Amino acid sequence: MTSEELFDAQARIKTLPNEPGCYLMRDRRGRIVYIGKAKDLKARVRTYFQPGGDPRPFVRWLPRVLSEIETIVTANEKDAFILENTLIKEHKPRYNVQLKDDKNFLSLRIDPDEAWPRVRVQRKKNEGKGRKFGPYHSAHSLRQTLKVLNKHFQLRTCPDHVLANRTRPCLQYQIKRCPAPCVLDIDPEEYAEDVRRTILFLEGRGDELVDTLREKMLAASEDLHFELAARYRDQIEAIEKALQRQQTVADGDVERDAFGYYREADRLTIQVLFVRRGRLEGARAFSFADQEFPDDEILSSFLNLYYNAGNTIPKEILLPFAIDDDEAQGFEELLGELAGHRVHIQTPQRGARRALVETAIQNAHHSFQEEHSREERTLDLLEKLQYRLKLSTLPRRIEGYDISNFQGRQIVGSRVVFVDAQPSKSDYRHYKIRTRDGQDDFGSMREVLLRRFRRVADGDDDAPDLVVVDGGKGQLGQALAVMEDLGLHDIQVVALAKSRVDKSGFDDHEVTRSAERVFLPGRKNPVLLKQNSAERFLLERLRDEAHDFAIGFHKSLRRKQSLRSSLNEIPGVGPATKRDLLRHFGSLKKIKAASLQELQEVSGVGPATATQIHSFFHPAPTQDP
Ligand code: SF4
Repeated sequence: MTSEELFDAQARIKTLPNEPGCYLMRDRRGRIVYIGKAKDLKARVRTYFQPGGDPRPFVRWLPRVLSEIETIVTANEKDAFILENTLIKEHKPRYNVQLKDDKNFLSLRIDPDEAWPRVRVQRKKNEGKGRKFGPYHSAHSLRQTLKVLNKHFQLRTCPDHVLANRTRPCLQYQIKRCPAPCVLDIDPEEYAEDVRRTILFLEGRGDELVDTLREKMLAASEDLHFELAARYRDQIEAIEKALQRQQTVADGDVERDAFGYYREADRLTIQVLFVRRGRLEGARAFSFADQEFPDDEILSSFLNLYYNAGNTIPKEILLPFAIDDDEAQGFEELLGELAGHRVHIQTPQRGARRALVETAIQNAHHSFQEEHSREERTLDLLEKLQYRLKLSTLPRRIEGYDISNFQGRQIVGSRVVFVDAQPSKSDYRHYKIRTRDGQDDFGSMREVLLRRFRRVADGDDDAPDLVVVDGGKGQLGQALAVMEDLGLHDIQVVALAKSRVDKSGFDDHEVTRSAERVFLPGRKNPVLLKQNSAERFLLERLRDEAHDFAIGFHKSLRRKQSLRSSLNEIPGVGPATKRDLLRHFGSLKKIKAASLQELQEVSGVGPATATQIHSFFHPAPTQDP
C-alpha cells in the first residue's frame, strides 16, 4: 500500500466473522496499534467505518493509519475478555489504555498456620501463603494500618530467621509491642486470639471487633485485670479512630467500587472509589494520554485490565456510563469466576449509587487538572532548559553519566535517566569497568559511553534527547569523540562542571558558590546556571543521582567482596564447601542469615562446619563477669 492509498475498510469488513472474539488493528508499519473485543466482530468493526460519517474524531484518521485488521475468534464473550487482556499486555498497543506493571501493588498477608504468625507486606500479587488484605491504594495508607497493628495487636514483627535465632527479646518486647514468642514461654491460645483480632481488623470488621473488645474489657476489669482492660481500651480507641477516618456512604455490608471518568480530547483520567463494609475506604486515579477510541471501549478495556491485575473484586461495580450490554454480561461472568461470588455491573441514574458515581467523576476531574498542571510545569522547565542549553529538541529523556572509584581501584560507571524531569529508576544502569586499571576517569567514561551508545548505533536502543556527563571541557570532548566514532552526530551532549567556592563571596557567616557551569559543544565559555533556577536544580539532581547510584554500587561491591573474603577466613570452609554453600543459598547474604539447622541441610556441610560458620556470623554475646 503506498502512502496515497487508503485502507479498504469496507472490503475487509465483508470478510470478518459474525462471531465473538478480538480484533487487532495494525498500522502501516505492521505494528499493532489497537486491540478490542466484541460479541460480533463484524458488527463492531463496522461501527468504525459507518458510511455517512461517524462524527467521532478518531474515525477520520483510521483509514489513513491502518494497513490491516486481524481477528481471533473465541468461544464466547468471556473468553474474548480474557484474550483481550493477554493480548494488550503482550503487545502494548499505542491506543489502548495500559496499566503499567503495578509497582505500587501493596497488600498485607498473614498466615494463621505458621507457628507465630506475623503480618507481612506483600509487593507481588501471587506471593506466599495465607490470608491477603488489600491491595492498599498508597504506601501511606498501608503504613498507617501497620502502625495501628504494631501498636495495638502485638504480633511479632521480626522475620523467621530472627525468631529462630534470638537469645533475648528485642526492643519490641521492651516497649510492650510483642510478647516475645522468640524466647519466652507464652500462651499460644492468647497469641492466636491476637491473630484473630488482627484479621477482623484487616477485614474491615471494626464494628464487630469493637463490640467483642468492649465485652472483654468489662470482663477484665471485673476480674481486676486492670492492665489487660487498659490494653483492650487502647485497642478500641485505635479502631474507632481508624473507623472515623472513613466516611459512611452505604448501609452495612455493602462492598462496591464506583468509577468516575473525565476526558479532554485524547487525555483522560479514571478514578475509582472503594466502598468496603459501607465505608469509603480509599480512592485511586489513573491518567492516560494518546487515547483515540470511544469512551465505552476505553472504560471496558480499563476494567478488564484493572481487575485482572489482582485488585479486589467487589460485589457491585458502578459505572459512570453504560458499556455494551453483552460485554457487561460477559464481564460479570468472568469477574464472578475470578472472585468466587456474583458481581453486578450497573450504571446508576439516581439515588445513593448515582451520588457516589458523581463523587468519583468530580474526583476524576480534579485529578485530571492536577496532572495537567504538573505536566505544564514540567513542560515549562524543559523548555527553559532547552533554551539555556541551546538544544534543538526538548530534553524529555535525559541521561546522566558518572564514574566513581575507590582509592583508584574498582572503577564503576553509572547511568541515570530522567524522563519528563522525573527519575526513571528502572532505566538506571551500572557498568563495571573492564578495560581500565587504576584511576582513569576519561578512559572509563569512554568505555561506558561506548558500551551504551553502541546499542543505539546498532538500532537496538533509542537515543536520549540529552546526554549529561560529569566534568568539564575534557569530559565533553571525550563524550563527543565517542559519538563521532559511532556515527551518532545528532545526539546532544553537554558536560556539567561542579560549582566552585566563590572566594569573593566569603563573608562571616557563609561560603557562597559560583554558578553551575555547563559546557556545550563548540562554545569556549560555559553557560552559567544561576542558583535557585529550576534548570540548575534539575541538572544538579541528575548529577547527584548519578553520583549516589555509582557510590551505592561501589558499596555493594565492597560489601560482597568483604563477605566473600570473610567466608575464606572460616576454618574448615574450603573452595568446595564455599561453592556448595553458594549453590544452596544463592547469595552470601543468605548464608550469613541462615540458621544452624539450615546450614546443616547443605550437602557437603557437616554439623561441625555448620557450627563454625554459624558462630562466625553470630558470635555469642559476651557475658558480664
Ligand atoms: S520480641 Fe522476639 S518475637 Fe518479638 S519481635 Fe522481637 S525478636 Fe521477634
